[in-house]
Amino acid sequence: MFSRTDHPQTRTGFVVLAAAVVLLCAPSVDSAHAAAGKARPKKAPDTLPVRGIHLSAPAKRDLQVALDFIRNALPKEGVNTLILEFNYEFDYQSRPEFANPRALNKADVEQIAAACRANNIELIPQINCLGHQSWSKNTGKLLRLHPEFDETPGKYPENKDIYCRSYCPLHPDVHKVLFDLMDELASACSAKSFHVGMDEVFILADPDCPRCKGKDPADLFAGEVKLLRDHLQSRGCRMWMWGDRFLDAKTTGLGRWEAADNGTAPAIDRVPKDIVICDWHYEKAPDTPRYFAGKGFDVVACPWRKSNVALDQLALIRAIRSDADKAVAARALGMVQTTWCGFGTFVQAYNAAAAGGQSPAKGNAAEAAQCFRTLFAAIRQPNAK
Ligand SMILES: [Zn+2]
Repeated sequence: MFSRTDHPQTRTGFVVLAAAVVLLCAPSVDSAHAAAGKARPKKAPDTLPVRGIHLSAPAKRDLQVALDFIRNALPKEGVNTLILEFNYEFDYQSRPEFANPRALNKADVEQIAAACRANNIELIPQINCLGHQSWSKNTGKLLRLHPEFDETPGKYPENKDIYCRSYCPLHPDVHKVLFDLMDELASACSAKSFHVGMDEVFILADPDCPRCKGKDPADLFAGEVKLLRDHLQSRGCRMWMWGDRFLDAKTTGLGRWEAADNGTAPAIDRVPKDIVICDWHYEKAPDTPRYFAGKGFDVVACPWRKSNVALDQLALIRAIRSDADKAVAARALGMVQTTWCGFGTFVQAYNAAAAGGQSPAKGNAAEAAQCFRTLFAAIRQPNAK
């Protein structure tokens, strides 16, 4: 279904389109150059609408480090979108059982939001919904405090033999709690967009769940997507989410993490199209952004550690943006660098890489920092091939 070809035909289209934009938008410049016998101006630059980075919410001790990074490094790199993954690491007040004085509180997050606003960066808070309710032996706070919401209560002691726990999307009380947390966090961030995660959901429609057993996983997944989206829309927030559950592992040949082999892929045709899809791939760059754009979704491509993958993804996004079908072209919003190492650790790695040029450092954080710098250097060259 997907191809890694370089779409030379759409690149030709880009030249034509760009030339047309120059003619339409800047006739005086064009004619002035012609009159002076000089070369025609360069193609109109294509600035990506979304130039983003995803980071874990900073630890409280790293607040100042985070503020400095937002005020200095992000504008310098050209970042205009910051996705901060909080999950339950916030001093929630709306549900007292989720209070966490050791995490950032409302006043802290308002400082982050203000720093973002002052630098034209959209702050998008994130709470992982549905899946990712545990990591290794540690069960997340939602299911620790409300074990009744677990899709598989009592099963898999110490989370043995599973990837991550899920909450039951049909539990009658889970969304009352979740929406309070989401609303509180969105409000602290003055958010206009909210990221709900929803990646790598492996446990769904469990045969032992009295509400979900026997149901179509695609229907369950789509139902949860729509419920979350409707709630966010009602409070003026646009929903963002990871895209992997909408991709079919078999037809794409992708693995069961970055695509679904548990029946959720048909949900793509059962959900509203106004969701922004974060299409993450870390080992290679399949043309899945085109699949999402073709289905009617706005999409961003998301790399992690490999600069060559990031640059391939950027080429795919630029190819879509030069598509002859203007509606499809406009849906390729841009790029979001992912990081999976903690905010403070990433800043350290970034600063080391920035100080030393091509950092030879290895490891998750150093590789992501190097990938980020390489990707954004390429993004800042809007007409680069
Ligand atoms: Zn259930």
